[in-house]
Amino acid sequence: MTAPVRTRVLIIGTGFAGLGMAIRLKQAGLDARGSGGVPQDDFVVLERGGEVGGTWRDNTYPGAACDVPSHLYSFSFAPNPDWSRSFSPQAEIQEYLRRTATDFGVRPHIRFDHEVRGADWDEAAQRWRVRTNAGDFEAEVLVSATGALSDPQIPSLPGLDRFEGTVFHSARWRHDHDLAGKRVAVVGTGASAIQFVPQIQPEVAQLTLFQRTPPWILPRWDRPFRPAERWAFRRLPLVQRLARAGIYWGREQMVAGFVMAPNLMRVAERLGRRHLERSVPDAGLRAKLTPDYRIGCKRILISNDYLPSLTRPNVNLVAAGLAEVRERSVVAADGSEHEVDTIIFGTGFHVTDIPVADRITGPGGVTLKDHWAGGMKAYKGAAVAGFPNLFLLVGPNTGLGHSSQVFMIESQIAYVVDAVRHLQRTGEVVEIRSDAETTWDDGVQRAMARTVWTTGGCASWYLDDRGRNTTLWPGSTWRFRRHTARFDPSAYRVLEPAPTPESVSVG
Ligand SMILES: Cc1cc2nc3c(=O)[nH]c(=O)nc-3n(C[C@H](O)[C@H](O)[C@H](O)COP(=O)(O)OP(=O)(O)OC[C@H]3O[C@@H](n4cnc5c(N)ncnc54)[C@H](O)[C@@H]3O)c2cc1C
Repeated sequence: MTAPVRTRVLIIGTGFAGLGMAIRLKQAGLDARGSGGVPQDDFVVLERGGEVGGTWRDNTYPGAACDVPSHLYSFSFAPNPDWSRSFSPQAEIQEYLRRTATDFGVRPHIRFDHEVRGADWDEAAQRWRVRTNAGDFEAEVLVSATGALSDPQIPSLPGLDRFEGTVFHSARWRHDHDLAGKRVAVVGTGASAIQFVPQIQPEVAQLTLFQRTPPWILPRWDRPFRPAERWAFRRLPLVQRLARAGIYWGREQMVAGFVMAPNLMRVAERLGRRHLERSVPDAGLRAKLTPDYRIGCKRILISNDYLPSLTRPNVNLVAAGLAEVRERSVVAADGSEHEVDTIIFGTGFHVTDIPVADRITGPGGVTLKDHWAGGMKAYKGAAVAGFPNLFLLVGPNTGLGHSSQVFMIESQIAYVVDAVRHLQRTGEVVEIRSDAETTWDDGVQRAMARTVWTTGGCASWYLDDRGRNTTLWPGSTWRFRRHTARFDPSAYRVLEPAPTPESVSVG
């Protein structure tokens, strides 16, 4: 048996969050190998996949692209003047992340094909002991950056295992499965489905789309950047910084509608209705596609080709969810049966039940999942009472409905880097005080009460099974940035130091 690899900070995941964390730790000087006479990396990153990228490595479905403009949906410290268009396609974002990992020199810290199976707090040694499929690790600080939209969710439908055709989730696209001439069922009409449906529609023989709730869809103002613009972004970095700031502040205006006065969202609804009328001439089909809840309550989607694709003769929109699967067909909740060769699930991810919560075990053998039995919560989306020296990135209530997740990720990274510096300087082991966590969470939930996500009259993946919104940040992103600008040790309690071998009396 090989000895565990010892490290000061262990990061799980190499999406925007884990990668950004690694880069910032390196920039903070935490990458000296073998410091303090102990053979160790000062930080190690564990990634279950074979490459960096997270979301952008895994979601390779046709038409995958971001829906926040790329100048904002990228790291502030790694601007990319070469984005080909305002909303970049998946391959470009993935390439950007790959290049960023290389350029900032963090690849040597990453252990690919290492899936974390368990992380247990060792109370005596005051360290995290982490088990992977490829070896064990020990760390003073654990940073979990496993992603909120990382583990695809397929509903457990009666008969699904009997289906004789091909089944896959959009986040694990089967590129080896030729859809040409196939009868395809698409389940779900969320952000991924509206991107891949118009791409596969011309290819397939028949596309049957199962829609439980119609999404609000707005036009996608997307265009390629002209060579002169790209030249300017490259040669005059201020131009790109201004473009980014313009997008940021433009999006930030939307907070008023989402969070403070959902009635303001009526303006966007008018735009959505007009977009639907222009795209779908048939009144019957349009009725099925008209949402009956306030825009913004579910994620607002942007597309110019989704609605027109539904008007094609080979598309059948079933305004009901899927109820059952048979050997060669699927049955909708409205009782209609449809023969299909392939089922593609665009049914989202385990968001309010993130799998890593079952794998992280704090003092007393309590898992994060047990601890969150009443719903997820974390101080500043990062620290959880009862879990010493653990930090989450993109933890509870840090998601956004209106702007770039990368902005929130960078805010949290600044906080955690500062925390790591503090722990290194003081040698302390800390845990968020439960009163501080409760006060934070009460504030979040109070603000949530008046948002469109609560008052908008819809059920969404933002809510957990109790109807609590544990995913989104109900405020402006700059306010979150202010909250996370500095580590605040006064909100934490310091654990008693672990007894050293000398301090243990031998009787
Ligand atoms: C299709 C799609 C489009 C999106 N578009 C946008 C957009 O336009 N704008 C926006 O702001 N957000 C968008 N998002 C949200 C997006 O997920 C975030 O913006 C961001 O990419 C999240 O980064 P992350 O590092 O937190 O998580 P991820 O990118 O999910 O990375 C998590 C990493 O952790 C690894 N991991 C998980 N569990 C383990 C384990 N047990 N052991 C080891 N490794 C593990 C995973 O393999 C993965 O590499 C989109 C999401 C999806 C799915």
